[in-house]
Amino acid sequence: MNHITLAPVQSDQPTHLMATYGRQAISFVRGRGSYLYTEDGTEYLDALTGIAVCGLGHAHSVIAEAIAEQAATLVHTSNIFEIPWQTAAAQKLAEVSGMQEIFFSNSGAESNEGAIKIARKYGSQQGIQHPKIIVAEKSFHGRTLATLSATGNAKVQEGFFPLVEGFIRVPFGDIEAIQEAALHHPDIVAILVEPIQGEGGINTAPQGFSYLEEIRALCNQHNWLMMLDEIQTGNGRTGKFFAYQHTNITPDVLTTAKGLGNGFPVGAVMTQGKAVGLLGPGSHGSTYGGTVLGSRVVYTVIDTIQKENVVENADKMGRYIVEQLRQAFNELDIQVRGFGMMIGIELPKPCAELVNITRDEYKLIVNVTAGNVVRLLPPLNMSKDQADDLINRLVPAIQNFLAA
Ligand SMILES: *Cc1c(COP(=O)(O)O)cnc(C)c1O
Repeated sequence: MNHITLAPVQSDQPTHLMATYGRQAISFVRGRGSYLYTEDGTEYLDALTGIAVCGLGHAHSVIAEAIAEQAATLVHTSNIFEIPWQTAAAQKLAEVSGMQEIFFSNSGAESNEGAIKIARKYGSQQGIQHPKIIVAEKSFHGRTLATLSATGNAKVQEGFFPLVEGFIRVPFGDIEAIQEAALHHPDIVAILVEPIQGEGGINTAPQGFSYLEEIRALCNQHNWLMMLDEIQTGNGRTGKFFAYQHTNITPDVLTTAKGLGNGFPVGAVMTQGKAVGLLGPGSHGSTYGGTVLGSRVVYTVIDTIQKENVVENADKMGRYIVEQLRQAFNELDIQVRGFGMMIGIELPKPCAELVNITRDEYKLIVNVTAGNVVRLLPPLNMSKDQADDLINRLVPAIQNFLAA
């Protein structure tokens, strides 16, 4: 084998990378399950999993083996040929999602692009010239032009005008605002929301998941497509395979990505009911979408989630962590909310520097979103000992931070 050894990165030295990320001055060279390791062997507990991506933990042996074997066999042909692993991956994903048709993409934003195109096609087939999609405030749908236009965050859009048109924004959870929009816009074709807003601070609607049921009813009434962005909430993250499965409804269009490849870049846009068949030959495509290798990874990730009862574990461990945190913080002005392994801890003050404190002093990787929400996205298959390890590092970190 041809081994190349890299010189260590000096974080104060300039590089050729575009400065699109404010990077922390640390790099990990190895991972195993719930833990990450630096070059010198220091161990960190990873309660972020590459932002809800490595749900099965790092270097999962079954996934690693599937990647290695397929990489040494056949990586890519083209979607102009039959790809049995893609057919099998779609079958698996249909099984766990309740959806009928699947298009594989390479990222979350691309999956949402597919959803937006489906909504427009749906409109155009009804002769609607300027179809509109209802989207929510504080949402995040991606960084491409259409998905940043759908996103409810001015910082994401700043500098990129003119935006893609055709979006109507309403407050998250506000059904009356949707009804109001329906009165003024006869050309609405779809609603696109996240079941739980991830970047927005781990927020469900004030009425909880019944918001999704109310949206479903409105979509039925007006003949709109109900489209859910489960890029982050999908693949077992919330203690169901998809978050909408906490309810009795099914969306017409469902998107996912992050946890679907456990780190391999893949995404999917899925349809059922009246959204089926809208995209046909020539109307959508992707060179890399659903390669042999990517499809085998998707198949293996879903199969492993099923065989290792990962969704049940995410539900159980998530409840346990939330319960323990609520007990630990019950004297403090802290709100803990979460579903499965998607947990937000809202502090009474901005806490961006907690990311550095937990990392350096407690060897714990977390993230802060919406200014004052500590976001935990741990591996879905964490053991109880590891969950206790997480709690024992995080609780004193937050207590000391608030006391300081
Ligand atoms: C991460 C995320 C996206 C964008 O996914 P990318 O793979 O970064 O393009 C879209 N929607 C939600 C809800 C996300 O969490």
